[in-house]
Amino acid sequence: MSITPEQQSEIDAARAAPSRTLRATAPGMEQHLYKAVPVLDHGFVRVVDYMGDDAAIVQAARVSYGQGTKKARDDAGLIRYLMRHWHSTPFEMCELKLHVKLPVFVARQWIRHRTANVNEYSARYSILDREFYIPAPEQLAAQSTVNNQGRGAVLEGAEAAQVLEMLKSDANRSYDHYEAMLSQDGQQGLARELARMNLPANIYTQWYWKVDLHNLFHFLRLRADAHAQYEIRVYAEAICAMVADWVPAAYAAFEDYRLEAAQLSGRGLDAVRRMLRGEEVTQESSGMSKGEWREFAALMQL
Ligand SMILES: Cc1cc2nc3c(=O)[nH]c(=O)nc-3n(C[C@H](O)[C@H](O)[C@H](O)COP(=O)(O)OP(=O)(O)OC[C@H]3O[C@@H](n4cnc5c(N)ncnc54)[C@H](O)[C@@H]3O)c2cc1C
Repeated sequence: MSITPEQQSEIDAARAAPSRTLRATAPGMEQHLYKAVPVLDHGFVRVVDYMGDDAAIVQAARVSYGQGTKKARDDAGLIRYLMRHWHSTPFEMCELKLHVKLPVFVARQWIRHRTANVNEYSARYSILDREFYIPAPEQLAAQSTVNNQGRGAVLEGAEAAQVLEMLKSDANRSYDHYEAMLSQDGQQGLARELARMNLPANIYTQWYWKVDLHNLFHFLRLRADAHAQYEIRVYAEAICAMVADWVPAAYAAFEDYRLEAAQLSGRGLDAVRRMLRGEEVTQESSGMSKGEWREFAALMQL
C-alpha cells in the first residue's frame, strides 16, 4: 500500500493523542479510526471521522414513534423494523468520513453516487505520483461471453504476459511524457492542469468522501454486489467490514434485508405463490420475459 511516510506519521500522531468527549462513540469504530486498510495494489480506505452509532438511529426513530416503541421492541428489533419498512431517515443520523486512494477509472464509477460530499486531490495544483493500478494476474480476465458488462475466464500464458507488459509500459511512457511536459528545465513547462490529460485512467487519485449511513448502505448495496466491477467491489467490501464494527445492529439488518435479500416483481411473487400451491409454472405462463425468467429461476434455484 502506498501510504506516504507523512500520512503514516499523521495517523500515528492522531492515534497517540486521544481526547475525552461527551459525544457518543462506537468502540468498534474507534479501533478503525485513522488506520488505512490496503485495497488493490496502491489504494487504501481509512476512516477519518464518524458521527453516531446504533443508539443514534434508535434515538431518532423514537422521536417519531414515541416511548411506546421502547417497550414493544428492543433496539436491534427496532432497527430491523426500520430497515424492513424503508424508514430511512433515522439511518441518516449517522455519518462517515473516509479518505480513499483509488484508480481514476474506479473514481468515475464511485462519483456517480451523488449523495455524498467529496473533496478530491487537485492535479491542477499538485503533481500526481507515478502510481498505476496493474491488476493481479488472477484479475486479468477476458471479456465475458454471457455478460457484456463483465469478465470471463482468466487470461493465460503469453497473452497474459503481453497484456501486463502493455499496461505497465503504456503507464510508464505516459508518466515519462507527463514529467517531460511539466519540466521547467530549459523550457517554460506545461501547466499541470493540461499535462495531466496525457495520463491513463489507472493512475491513482485520492479524496475525502463523507456520506450518511442511509446513502452509504445504498452505495454498498450496489457496489459490494457481485455485479459490481471487482475493482470497486473490493473498496465496498473493506467499507462493509468497518460499518459492521461501527453499527453492528444496523449492519446486520442491512445484510439481511438488502445485501442477502432479493426483490421479486408482482409476476415473480405470483409465480412463487402458484408454485407453493403445487401448480407447475413455466416462463410462458408466468408472464415474465425470457431474461426475467432466467434471473427468477436462478434466484429460486429452480
Ligand atoms: C452494476 C452497475 C452497472 C452500472 N452501469 C452503468 C452504465 O453502464 N452507465 C452509467 O452511466 N451508469 C452505470 N451505473 C451507475 C448507476 O446507473 C447509478 O448512476 C449509480 O449506481 C448511482 O446510483 P444512484 O443514482 O441510485 O445513487 P446516488 O446518486 O447516491 O443517489 C441515491 C438516491 O438518491 C436519489 N437521487 C439522487 N440524485 C437524484 C436526482 N438528481 N434526481 C432524482 N433522484 C436523485 C435517487 O433515489 C437515488 O437512487 C451502474 C451502476 C452499477 C451498480
